[in-house]
Amino acid sequence: MLYKSIFLKAKTQIEKKLIQIQDFDKKQAYLEFELKDEILKSEEEIKKAFEKVKCAQCGACCSLAISEFSPCELSLRAKNGDKTAKSFLEVFEPYESPGDVPLSLLPDALKNTAKNNEAFFYHCKKIQKKDGKSFCPIYDKRPDVCKNFPDTPLENLPKACVYNVWKDENEVKAMFIKALNDIRKFYLSEFKKGE
Ligand code: SF4
Ligand code: SF4
Repeated sequence: MLYKSIFLKAKTQIEKKLIQIQDFDKKQAYLEFELKDEILKSEEEIKKAFEKVKCAQCGACCSLAISEFSPCELSLRAKNGDKTAKSFLEVFEPYESPGDVPLSLLPDALKNTAKNNEAFFYHCKKIQKKDGKSFCPIYDKRPDVCKNFPDTPLENLPKACVYNVWKDENEVKAMFIKALNDIRKFYLSEFKKGE
C-alpha cells in the first residue's frame, strides 16, 4: 500500500515534467540524463548515511537472512541467470521448518508475513558458534553478498541490526528512487518503440 502511493507520486512527478517538455528528443534526454542524475544523487545520499553506521558484527544477518522468495523461486531465478539469487544461494540455505527460525531475531513487522508465506527465512551454511556466540570462520574472505549487506534500505533486517535506524530514515526515499527508476525505464523503452 505504501509503495503503491509512493509509485503514484513518482509517476505524477515524471508525467508532469514530460508534459512540460514539448520536444521529443528533450523528453528522452530528461529521462536518460537529468532524471538519472537525480536518482544517482539520491542514492549517493543514502550511501553516505549508510557509511556513518558501523556494523556491530553481531552475526544476526548470518543466522537470519530474509527473502521475499521461497527456496524454489530462488533456485529457479538462479537457474535463469539471476546473479543476486545465485550469490544468495551460495551462502544461505533455508531453515528446515518454521519452528527452527530464531524468533528473537525476527523483526516484529515480519512475524505475520512468515505465517502467510510472504517472507522466507534462511541461514548461512558456514556460520559457527563458540561460547554461545556466532562467528564467521571465513570473515576475512567472506563473499560479497555478506560484505555488501545491507545494500539498500529496502532489505529486511534482523530485529537488532544497527542499520535499522538507517533503514527507517531512508526506506521511503529508497522506494521513491526505485519507483522513479522503474518508471524512467518504462518510458524510455516506450519512446524507443515509437522511434
Ligand atoms: S559467510 Fe560469514 S559473514 Fe557471510 S553469512 Fe556466513 S557467517 Fe556470515
Ligand atoms: S545484523 Fe546488522 S549489525 Fe549485525 S552483523 Fe549483520 S549487518 Fe552487522
